[in-house]
Amino acid sequence: MTMPWKKSIEPIIKNSLGFLFRAFSGVLKDAITIFVYHDVSDSPSEFSRSHDLNVRPSLFEEQIKFIKKNFNVISPHHLLRGEIPHRAALITFDDGFIGYFKNAIKILEKYDLPSIIFLNMGPIKGEVFWSGLITYLCDKRSDFKSYLQETLSKEAKKKPLFLSCSRDLVESYMKSVGESFAEEVHQFVGEFAGEKDLLEASRNPLVFYGNHSYNHYVPLLLSDEELLKTYNRNARELEKYDNYRNILSLPFGRSSFSHEQVHLLFKNGAKKIFQSSGKINFDRSSNFLDRIALTSDHDSPSKIWFQFFQRQLREIATL
Ligand SMILES: [Zn+2]
Repeated sequence: MTMPWKKSIEPIIKNSLGFLFRAFSGVLKDAITIFVYHDVSDSPSEFSRSHDLNVRPSLFEEQIKFIKKNFNVISPHHLLRGEIPHRAALITFDDGFIGYFKNAIKILEKYDLPSIIFLNMGPIKGEVFWSGLITYLCDKRSDFKSYLQETLSKEAKKKPLFLSCSRDLVESYMKSVGESFAEEVHQFVGEFAGEKDLLEASRNPLVFYGNHSYNHYVPLLLSDEELLKTYNRNARELEKYDNYRNILSLPFGRSSFSHEQVHLLFKNGAKKIFQSSGKINFDRSSNFLDRIALTSDHDSPSKIWFQFFQRQLREIATL
């Protein structure tokens, strides 16, 4: 439970520390900072809202202005060619919410900034979005939670529940209750882009597509063969678009994959792989890069500066 005093004092601390951190922003000179967004909408779905995946278009525009003012935004094309200026930044999106196509592209065009969206082609083609399904079950179905309590090991129960939601486990639950929850999950997740939206936006020189695997399964719960299958199947679908670049962002992005899997994906063609654990990339030449999420909480420059350095600070604190 969050204490009420903590809730009121937290923004003040973040703002003040962020203001201080700004003084150290010179360290970003030789780094590449990669931002990750999901949805940009004035009417976000329950899933986006409750998991802080949405930024309102007006706030998104403010954040974009901040990025443009403080960074040199590059395109994935430049990243792949190693053409990385000082204070480089890349703007990325995950999953395929319609808000990117309807709202974010317009704003990015206004400031002449490129971006890349990592897509799961399964949901784009109408399949149930796996991340939405397991989140729906964990958030809304108490019988699913009891089912997990009975099924999972003590060790697995210590981690966030979604990290244990394998296909076998979820499918056998759905079989036992005789429901697919497709309609409920669709309502919960909100609108995704379709292939028509992808085709239209693919002609925009500022828009690039990347691979987020065919559906949003937890990589750690997949065998090597299953992982390559979901990666390759998605790549085949995306290769139809001229703006596709062979860069992969890992589903769930944090604690959801192993370094052996990252190595396997590089061996099988991925040029760059992104995680989302919130760090700045000081080694610009690395092919394995991290991203920082900007959310609805980041409504002032100081809070954005705070977001840049908090993960770095936490790491120093645990040394
Ligand atoms: Zn994702």
